[in-house]
Amino acid sequence: MTLATGSPFKHTGELGWAQGYWRLAAWDFSAQETLSFLKGHLDLGVSLVDHADIYGDYRCEQLFGNALAIQPAIRQQLHVVTKCDIQLISASNDVSLNHYDTSAKHIRSSVERSLARLQTDHIDTLLLHRPDLLMDVDEVVSCFNALRSEGKVGAFGVSNFSASQFELLNRGFDHQLVTNQVELNPLSFDAFENGAVDHLQMAGVRPMAWSCLAGGAFFRPQTEQAHRVIACLSQLATKYDTSLEGVIYAWVMRHPSRPIVINGSGKIERLASAMAKSQIILSREDWYRIWVASKGHGVP
Ligand code: NAP
Repeated sequence: MTLATGSPFKHTGELGWAQGYWRLAAWDFSAQETLSFLKGHLDLGVSLVDHADIYGDYRCEQLFGNALAIQPAIRQQLHVVTKCDIQLISASNDVSLNHYDTSAKHIRSSVERSLARLQTDHIDTLLLHRPDLLMDVDEVVSCFNALRSEGKVGAFGVSNFSASQFELLNRGFDHQLVTNQVELNPLSFDAFENGAVDHLQMAGVRPMAWSCLAGGAFFRPQTEQAHRVIACLSQLATKYDTSLEGVIYAWVMRHPSRPIVINGSGKIERLASAMAKSQIILSREDWYRIWVASKGHGVP
C-alpha cells in the first residue's frame, strides 16, 4: 500500500518543518493569540502541526481547538498529527501509575477525546507515542483499520520506537506506518546510530525530529558536552554566517533520511529565523566536527 499523494512523510515529500505544540499551555496565549501564531507559521509554509493527548497535562489540544473554533476553515490547511498511548496520572485521567497503553479501548477513547478537544472531525496522522512492551499487534492493527475506515484517522505512525518495534507493527499493518518521531539533536542522536532511522530509510519514509534544540539546553548549557558542542556550533555559525540554531537545524536536516524538524519555540520570529538561517549545507568535515564535539573523541 502506498501513502496518499502529498504525504509529508514520503521520502520525496517537500515539507521540512513542523510546528510542535507541546509547550502551548506554557505560552499562556489567548485563543486569538494561538490563532495568530498558527497563521504566522502557515504564512511561513509550516502546515504540519504536532500534538499529543498528554501535552500540557491533557490541555494543549483543547487550547489549540479553541483557536481553530474561531476560524474553522483554517483546519483544511493543516496536517494534524497527534499521539496516544501514554497514560499519565492527572486530574483528567483515571490512572494510578504512569504507563503505556496500546489497547484498542485506550487508543479509541484517546482518539475520540483528541477529536473533541482539537475541534476537528479527523486526525491526519496518529502516532503511538512510546513503545508499549505489552503491545498486541493484531489488536492495534484492527483498531487502526477501524479508525481509518470510519474516516477518523488518515494515517498512522509511531514515536520513540526502535527499528524492530517499528517493523513488528509495520509488518502487520496493510497501510504502512508513515513515520517514527525520534529525538535528534547534536546532544542526542542515538536514533541515527541505533538503526531506527536507517530502518525508516529502508521503508522510504521520513523521521520527524523532536527537540532539535535539545529543549533549549543549547541556550543554558549545564554539561561539559553541551559546552563543547556550543563552542563548535558557534565557530561554525561564524564560518557559515548564520546562527547557532541555523547550524543545528542544518546539521539535523543534512542527514539523508531527510528528517522533518519540529520547531518547539512559541515565537514566530524564532521559527522564521531558524528556517532562513538553516539554509546552509554543512561540509562533511563540519558535520563530523559537531559529532566529534558531542562525543568528546574523534571517529574510530
Ligand atoms: P526545542 O526546539 O528543542 O526546544 C524548544 C525550547 O527552546 C522552547 O522552550 C524555546 O523557548 C527554547 N528556545 C528556542 N530558541 C531559543 C533561543 N534562541 N534562546 C532561548 N531559548 C530558545 O523543541 P521541543 O519543544 O523540546 O520539542 C519540539 C516539539 O517536538 C514539541 O513541541 C513536540 O511537538 C515534539 N516532541 C515530541 C516528543 C516525543 O516523544 N515524540 C518529545 C518531545 C517533544 P521559546 O518558546 O521562548 O522560543
